Amino acid sequence: MKPEKINTNINFWLRIVVAAPAHSGIGGPLTYRSELPLAPGQLVRVPLGRREVLGVVWETLPDSGDLAPEQAREVLGALQELPPLNATWRSLVAFTAGYYQRSLGEVALAALPPQLRELTPVQLARRLKRPQADTSSAGTPQEGLTLSTEQTAALLQLRTDARPALLFGSTGSGKTEVYLRAAARVLAEDPEAQVLVMVPEINLTPQLQARFEARFAHLGRERVVALHSGLTPAQRLKSWLAAHAGTARLVLGTRMAVLASMPNLRLIVVDEEHDPSYKQQEGARYSARDLAVYRGRLEGQRQAEAAGSPQAVEALPAQGAAPACNVILGSATPSLESWQATLAGRYQRLNMHERIGVQSEAGNIQGELPKVRLVDMNHQPKHCTLAPPLLAAIAERIARGEQSLIFLNRRGYAPVLACHDCGWKSECPHCSAYRVFHKIDRTLRCHHCGFTERVPRACPSCGNVDIAPVGRGTERLEEHLAELLQGITRPDGSPLVIARIDADTTRLKGTLESQLASVHAGEVDVLVGTQMIAKGHDFRHITLVAAVNPDGALFSSDFRAPERLFGLLMQASGRAGRNAAQGAQSEMWVQSFHPQHPLFDALKKHDYPAFAAQELAEREAAGMSPFGFSALVRAEARSQDIAQGFLNAAAAAAQALALPGHELVTPYPAVPMTIQRVANIERAQMLVESASRVALQRFLAAWQPVMDATRQQAEFKPLIRWAIDVDPLAI
Ligand code: ADP
Ligand code: ZN
Ligand code: ZN
Repeated sequence: MKPEKINTNINFWLRIVVAAPAHSGIGGPLTYRSELPLAPGQLVRVPLGRREVLGVVWETLPDSGDLAPEQAREVLGALQELPPLNATWRSLVAFTAGYYQRSLGEVALAALPPQLRELTPVQLARRLKRPQADTSSAGTPQEGLTLSTEQTAALLQLRTDARPALLFGSTGSGKTEVYLRAAARVLAEDPEAQVLVMVPEINLTPQLQARFEARFAHLGRERVVALHSGLTPAQRLKSWLAAHAGTARLVLGTRMAVLASMPNLRLIVVDEEHDPSYKQQEGARYSARDLAVYRGRLEGQRQAEAAGSPQAVEALPAQGAAPACNVILGSATPSLESWQATLAGRYQRLNMHERIGVQSEAGNIQGELPKVRLVDMNHQPKHCTLAPPLLAAIAERIARGEQSLIFLNRRGYAPVLACHDCGWKSECPHCSAYRVFHKIDRTLRCHHCGFTERVPRACPSCGNVDIAPVGRGTERLEEHLAELLQGITRPDGSPLVIARIDADTTRLKGTLESQLASVHAGEVDVLVGTQMIAKGHDFRHITLVAAVNPDGALFSSDFRAPERLFGLLMQASGRAGRNAAQGAQSEMWVQSFHPQHPLFDALKKHDYPAFAAQELAEREAAGMSPFGFSALVRAEARSQDIAQGFLNAAAAAAQALALPGHELVTPYPAVPMTIQRVANIERAQMLVESASRVALQRFLAAWQPVMDATRQQAEFKPLIRWAIDVDPLAI
């Protein structure tokens, strides 16, 4: 390329990050020169190839460094109307890129609203006009309730303990009220302070937003903004700018909000912290929950430094000093990672055992948790989907004018084969894991060690030919129910109404809302659905919840399946009996061929700690998370040979080169993914494990260039893509 004309007056050298796809060879910042001095964090427009792109100034250099001065290209312009992204944000982005093995530019630019790239300086200036600071009504937040003892204690403890806090309490125990009060306190104490509240994708409803807006209406208009992927590009830009400028005092968002620029962040809340939607499933596969904890620590350090006490960087603040940035993780069924962190003392635990009922004239009534009834399916008629006693219970509710919720979690569990006669399951002889049934080539494969066999013709243990995936037969439940309940009528004699809510019935925008509305209005007697209905919705008239076939998750190749099942069942049972008047009679029914399974024992007692203790003991013995660390490398190609061959070759190269950390890291042989072929593309994966997070991190960082080089070999040219997932949610 012809060198650009050099202006000898230019003597500011900058390292700038730009969006570069993974494996493009552009890992870190690029060197540019500028006529003006620009601060780190400043947004700029720079040339990249033939394009003009948005970049972020990462650092300033004393000279052009390794580059001959005439090779550095010139910054085209700076978005000077925007204050620079601060050092905390840059540290967070750098950590995210490093930890999740992506390029700095990819993470940095993905964290900015896409529309920022398209605006002219004039347009930007107009958007940045500060909203009228409406201070007239400042001072009186709307807080009508008297806090419970537990809520008061939780808020007090947050004041004096800077560790991340796990707010452990069932649905309806008043956790959201604690978030609101903690936020109100921070916002009242410091007129600049900002609060970030994250909720799972599915929980971010207009109602929740309205609840937050109403509570903070006294701060003025547009002080509460939402940030999630459902916004239009213009709305997203507006929210982001308000957060970045500090005019938004509270950001309510989904996982993407964890990377928002909030210069005065003083509190981070992660509601339903166990929810899998906090893990990003493409690009940089970060866990927003884990980043929230990291970000809280960074914010604390920054403020300690600003207050002139550099020694506070690692140490916890002195007793009595309010923490600089509390992080609150809330859940009724925490992730085992967070739970273990409280046992180890890294997180503090705030317990909320009581359930706050609906307020009556006489004051608070404590809502009771429903009674759990287990149906032993071994003693029910063969092949029945719904056991007769459960059917009878449902019919009874209909006759009384009460609602039932029948829920089938058929989604998301890898198929494991089982013999229904002797109880044999497709266990791996080498691992404490079940092998997965791959329909395409009729094999059983262990996703842990790769051990593969053809599916046996008959049960290897008893010879029964009827071996089948665990968890079959729930597909036609809605129709089946209608047949079985034929003739049952409501108290007024009218015919019963059954409704179904799942991904298929709610594809059209607005249908979920209208379906939910008819449930709330009492028009539906029996609601059938997937886990979608187990979460978040407050059905006050449901007095019976039934899980029809949860066994698949007990025997899944995915070690987190029992944890998810327990969470789901606890949450589903939380749907029943929220109306305190009916709470005492509410029931949760569970049908299982394994009613003696310890998971159900804990469920019966609504005893999450007991469940966690069992599960953690198993995980510790097997060296799995949170006691071990893993990454999953995925590869896609036209054939399994190429996809698996690439992974195996890259692992062999890593061993041959004795990469840093390799002696503490185990890469297992490549296997096809559970869903092995999608749109004629073959997908393979390789699990990499280590007992040391640090060793795994060092190994992965060193392995990246080795994988890039492996990919360049002629035989792997046809590889379509590959990517690393650190701390994967499912193997
Ligand atoms: P969670 O987030 O744990 O599900 P919420 O904070 O939403 O619980 O509280 C459940 C219900 O109880 C809400 O309707 C809330 O307004 C009410 N509530 C919360 N705290 C109190 C309190 N101290 N006194 C009376 N009602 C309360
Ligand atoms: Zn058998
Ligand atoms: Zn195995």
